[in-house]
Amino acid sequence: MPDPMIDADLLAILACPSDDHAPLRLSGETLVCTHCASVFPIRDGIPVLLIDDATPGPNGIGHAAASEAPASETAAADSAAP
Ligand SMILES: [Zn+2]
Repeated sequence: MPDPMIDADLLAILACPSDDHAPLRLSGETLVCTHCASVFPIRDGIPVLLIDDATPGPNGIGHAAASEAPASETAAADSAAP
């Protein structure tokens, strides 16, 4: 089967390999960090949690990608407000 289903119990203990160590969520055939939004591949049903193999999020691996950023970073990044 091409479906790379990750066991829910396994997914629950996986974390981003960067300094944020944030939980990951399943997105299609990849895992996405809930903090930095970096994308990690799943090969043969095995999550590849290596920084070298990851696709960095918008602010880089280990750096918050928007909504979950601390208040200070959110204020600095909120250029839409007057
Ligand atoms: Zn992360």
